[in-house]
Amino acid sequence: MKIECVTLHLIRMRLKTPFVTSYGAHSDRRTILIEIADADGLTGWGECVAFDTPHYTEETVDTAWLILERFLIPAIVGVPLQHPSEIPELLAPIRRHAMAKAGLEMAVWDLYCKRAGIPLSQALGGVRGEVDSGAAVGLQASEDALFRVIERFVEEGYRRIKTKIKPGADLALIERIRARFPDLPLMADANSAYRLADAARLRQLDKFDLMMIEQPLDVDDIVDHAQLQRQLRTPICLDESILTADDARKALQLGSCGVINIKIGRVGGLTEAKKIHDLCVERGVPVWCGGMLETGIGRAHSLALASLPGFTLPADLSASSRYWERDVIVPEITVAGGRIRVPDGPGIGYEVDRAFIASVTERKQTYRMS
Ligand code: MG
Repeated sequence: MKIECVTLHLIRMRLKTPFVTSYGAHSDRRTILIEIADADGLTGWGECVAFDTPHYTEETVDTAWLILERFLIPAIVGVPLQHPSEIPELLAPIRRHAMAKAGLEMAVWDLYCKRAGIPLSQALGGVRGEVDSGAAVGLQASEDALFRVIERFVEEGYRRIKTKIKPGADLALIERIRARFPDLPLMADANSAYRLADAARLRQLDKFDLMMIEQPLDVDDIVDHAQLQRQLRTPICLDESILTADDARKALQLGSCGVINIKIGRVGGLTEAKKIHDLCVERGVPVWCGGMLETGIGRAHSLALASLPGFTLPADLSASSRYWERDVIVPEITVAGGRIRVPDGPGIGYEVDRAFIASVTERKQTYRMS
């Protein structure tokens, strides 16, 4: 397999409703779709999930474009490849920029699977035909609005609800959600809004039987998280702090968490995501697949990853219609009975809707073998 050309499509998609976290609000989603082609004209698709602003990690849509164009694409175009797992080593001389790397690597996995005529889930070692779907609820304008959103997701059958918390919108909020939905599988994501000094406050969440508290402390920290975990009954789930399988190993060794959220973009691709998964299976630590407000292309990759055996907790993988009026793939992703079927067609298993992508493209550039 040899990649002859790479096309970057920077698109802008309007979210049905703005998504608000402690990092800020998103009403539009700009994202880079990455299309690669081999000499036989077969194509593979990936998605760089970086946001417009450097708040979740340091990467943005614009830095990712630059790094892809200047460094990552030239490192793989024209290089003979046996398997997509060779990509991380080719890109290793370029430090970090995980989401830019992941988008490119995803496209190589898709192409590899299409050439082999196998589904991506199978190539990764997936065992599940369906993935449990969880819904992530952003911060809402009022509690009434929050309750209405949760109620709707519960009615739609989502397997767990994740709500965002931050200082001032935490204990009373969770208490009222619990009073209203006593048996709801519920978790809270703090997106790093607390400090170790808040341990006593966070400990009060223990009585609400949350499945986990996600990323309460600093993004770069696993030491304070270990101290906090010793004081909490509720498992801590690390998201932003885990960028590599080595990070995961160290965090588990320190006791910094009891659960890991694996996002393909944050960890630099499917190869690294699988390594983290394999390590967690070995250590008996449950994992689940996180979301980044992806279009259907990124979501299809996540779906394949979430079919691996260690993904025992519901994923942040919802229906296309949860976020978009129209998705970039056909058919769109649907949730039935709280589950999403893992496609069995080659590669990501969905058709890419080129006409629609063209209609939302802000910038497009093709890079060929020189
Ligand atoms: Mg998170």
